[in-house]
Amino acid sequence: MARLLEAPTYPVADEVVLDPQRTAVVVVDMQNDFVKPEGKLYVPTAQEAVEPIARLLEKARAAGVLVIYTQDLHGEDDPEYRIWGEHVKAGTWGAEIVDELKPQPGDEIVTKPRYDAFYASRMEDVLRTHPQVDTLVITGTVTNICVLHTAGSAALRWYKVIVPKDAVAALSEFDQEAALHQIDFLYKGTITTVDGISFQK
Ligand code: ZN
Repeated sequence: MARLLEAPTYPVADEVVLDPQRTAVVVVDMQNDFVKPEGKLYVPTAQEAVEPIARLLEKARAAGVLVIYTQDLHGEDDPEYRIWGEHVKAGTWGAEIVDELKPQPGDEIVTKPRYDAFYASRMEDVLRTHPQVDTLVITGTVTNICVLHTAGSAALRWYKVIVPKDAVAALSEFDQEAALHQIDFLYKGTITTVDGISFQK
């Protein structure tokens, strides 16, 4: 039986103005297996995040902001399959980033074996080659799994973390709210919306 408890609250910033030179937008795991109903690990709200992410990417690209995609990727018999079943297997349709958010030339794609995009991946190398970047706008799925671990890992490295709440998706409202609360409370991230984000000219 579910217990009733009060949802945690956190401030939502109306307006966040970012320096395009110092910002990167990170799109976490917007892959067919997570976003599409035919996917192996479908997150029903992920489709709702596609349009806000696309809108954010349009603004970011127009301002010359670095765009980094993460791509969860597993081989044969990955230990994660024991937790989640087979998903985003290398070479399958499910592992591909959704067509609506297709990476463009100049974007970085960082494949990763686990929830945290900084673990066993090229993420630190990508960020070190853009040493002026000190702020990460983190979007994608799943809010309390790969988004939260990546936001936490970024914050522990002293990146400023911005999360537009309409551009992240979780399997339940509880997971969504708890993760956003944690990003605010523990990692001192800023929760906002895609419309709240603008880039300095
Ligand atoms: Zn995985």
